[in-house]
Amino acid sequence: MVKAVAGANWGDEGKGKITDMLAKEADIIVRFQGGANAGHTIVNDYGKFALHTLPSGVFYGHTTSVIGNGVALNIPVLFREIETLTGRGVPMPKILVSDRAQIVMPYHILFDQYEEERLGKNSFGSTKSGIAPFYSDKYAKTGFQVSELFDEERLKEKVEKTLEMKNVLLEHLYHKPPIDKEELFATLCDYREMVTPYVCDVSAYLNRALKENKTILLEGQLGTLKDPDHGIYPMVTSSSTLAAYGAIGAGIPPYEIKEIITVCKAYSSAVGAGAFVSEIFGAEAEELRRRGGDGGEYGATTGRPRRMGWFDCVASKYGCRLQGTTDVAFTVLDVLGYLDEIPVCVAYEIDGEEVTDFPVTVKLEKAKPVLRTLPGWKCDIRGIREYEKLPENCKAYVEFIEEQIGYPITMVSNGPGRDDIIYRKK
Ligand code: GDP
Repeated sequence: MVKAVAGANWGDEGKGKITDMLAKEADIIVRFQGGANAGHTIVNDYGKFALHTLPSGVFYGHTTSVIGNGVALNIPVLFREIETLTGRGVPMPKILVSDRAQIVMPYHILFDQYEEERLGKNSFGSTKSGIAPFYSDKYAKTGFQVSELFDEERLKEKVEKTLEMKNVLLEHLYHKPPIDKEELFATLCDYREMVTPYVCDVSAYLNRALKENKTILLEGQLGTLKDPDHGIYPMVTSSSTLAAYGAIGAGIPPYEIKEIITVCKAYSSAVGAGAFVSEIFGAEAEELRRRGGDGGEYGATTGRPRRMGWFDCVASKYGCRLQGTTDVAFTVLDVLGYLDEIPVCVAYEIDGEEVTDFPVTVKLEKAKPVLRTLPGWKCDIRGIREYEKLPENCKAYVEFIEEQIGYPITMVSNGPGRDDIIYRKK
């Protein structure tokens, strides 16, 4: 059976922790989209880790970690991540990389940097990991699949052909030095050495695993609002962040996905540019940022301070609907324990009208938050394991949000650790 873990919002909802927790009962964990541009932070017995490419199940001895065909594979980042883990005492995980995954090329990273520089104040706030140029090439059909590393002659030819076009852009659009074809070819040969032990026909492997009744966990990156089709286009990421894409990015039948666990954070945060209706600023935002997550709301990949806001019911209801949510995991609730009152965004006001359906970007930019204030609970809820033991105001907050978004909150996370979880019945 297949379960997916995906984000309802802008990412950083705590998917890593939920996946790590669910991985205990899973056999295989699959990354199916995105690249090393975002990170998951995981706290476990080995310490605190920021994962960028490996799935969050790598810390268990019983799981196989899979990089699906939908991922933007940065081979040296993967290689370094494996080395860091084993260097810190984590047993060597079982890793498989799809032979159909495409490779983030060194020039994708350069183009990402140069384009953001060129755009100046209109830049996307990219993490400059090459993801947008990578997916552009994938769909322009000029990308390199892992399998292509293994035919040297064809690889050499393709490198030469590709650089004809890339070097024109480098020299004439960005005024930067061109790339040497021998050097790039040598780099790709190094990549081949690094990735060879893991390469596999992932789709065939997963389909066999399904026949053997294994449990497969699909791990999404970012969240619904960063999806290129359904998110806040153009301030989105370049691959689909929806659970449905898990079928494509892993190579399994869509009807095999039986559970979709959508992760929602008890307040909002976002990185990068784009409309963020319930955003807060100044000292109020600074305090939530400082207290947020585990050690503050700063990017796992970039260290950038995240933009902060109150919980947004409009965005989260939409986020859950597009994921096809069967269960909501409501995270980081413990952080809100310091507040006397907690504002929640329950609707948007657009041109004098109140709406609760998440609008298209042009309308979203005009939206103002309609806030409702709920009483705080003013205590530390970490360590509580039963829902009934939570303070009344805390339960009222969870139940209010559950009603607003319309999907069952079956897990409440009240700390960064694996065991900081409260299960609720549907
Ligand atoms: P992801 O990309 O969705 O996995 O999210 P991030 O890893 O960027 O951000 C989540 C942060 O919150 C991490 O530092 C987690 O350790 C932390 N975290 C997850 N769940 C909880 C929780 O329930 N309470 C607290 N305090 N921190 C949490």
